[in-house]
Amino acid sequence: MARISDLLSRGRCFSIEMFPPKTPEAEARLVATLADFARLHPTFVSITYGAGGSTRERTHSLVVQLNESFTAAAMAHLVCAAHSRAELTAILTRYRDAGVENILALRGDPPRESQGRGDSGELAYAIDLVGLARSVGSFCVAVAAHPEGHPESPDLETDRRHLAGKLSVADFAITQFFFRAEDYLSMVEEVRAQGVDKPILPGIMPITNLSSVARMAEMTGTAIPGEVVSRLEAVADDPGSVAKVGVEIACELGQRLLDEGAPGLHIYSMNMSAATLAIYENLGLAGLA
Ligand code: FAD
Repeated sequence: MARISDLLSRGRCFSIEMFPPKTPEAEARLVATLADFARLHPTFVSITYGAGGSTRERTHSLVVQLNESFTAAAMAHLVCAAHSRAELTAILTRYRDAGVENILALRGDPPRESQGRGDSGELAYAIDLVGLARSVGSFCVAVAAHPEGHPESPDLETDRRHLAGKLSVADFAITQFFFRAEDYLSMVEEVRAQGVDKPILPGIMPITNLSSVARMAEMTGTAIPGEVVSRLEAVADDPGSVAKVGVEIACELGQRLLDEGAPGLHIYSMNMSAATLAIYENLGLAGLA
């Protein structure tokens, strides 16, 4: 397979996030989704990691399986939370030995039941996991960026400083989803002003259901602009129209970001292909990957 940093250096990219399925039914649906995605020839796909290590085996086996048989490189998400350094070293060593070259190093969020008990993980921040991954293998290591600032940060300036420090030792970043292009553009400018010019891929979440995205937005500290809410509420009675408007909103944002020089688009697919396929077609992304 390929290191994503090498692919990014060749031009703009188009990538897709998925999560490991929990049930045999969800697994069958993912097989169909992957067949759709294979036709798009994405630059890479990334596979999430469950909080507290809940998908440890499933993330591993899906990443290894995709790296062996899919049309694009698969990147494994990995989180510090709830793991010891020895456990993380073992997970990274297993990836290295299986030929996996790309890791997204995250802090994760300590499971609610462990909060306050002090078992939120031996590594405190994502930057520590970047260092550990570098010591285990010659991985391409990505990190997360938060255009509106990470919700726990005391202020935006502090968060940008930590982001710039983390990105300076990583290969590239992928952002949390967001709906205002300005949040992404100012974040990029502020990180560049600190002398860090690694690629920052914007993460795009097509809205297919307003209440579920609103729940996620609340957890991640993402603002959903009033104009976006009004457009979706105007068609709220018809799920098909909500999905169509959600794609339109994602395309408008994606086009603006590409026009402003973003290094590509990373789509949060939620393991469903329809919205990702529509964005790919509407924006003519075939030339990107
Ligand atoms: P960090 O970079 O460690 O930052 C966390 C907080 O600590 C921030 O407020 C930051 O400003 C602050 N900070 C950083 N360094 C320091 C320092 N040295 N001193 C003091 N403060 C510091 N979660 C999952 O569980 N599984 C996934 O698969 C997953 N995938 C994701 C993919 C993407 C693209 C994104 C954007 C997020 C993903 N997340 C995932 C969520 C992520 O784990 C949470 O957003 C988490 O709360 C922060 O992770 P981080 O890696 O950005 O943390």
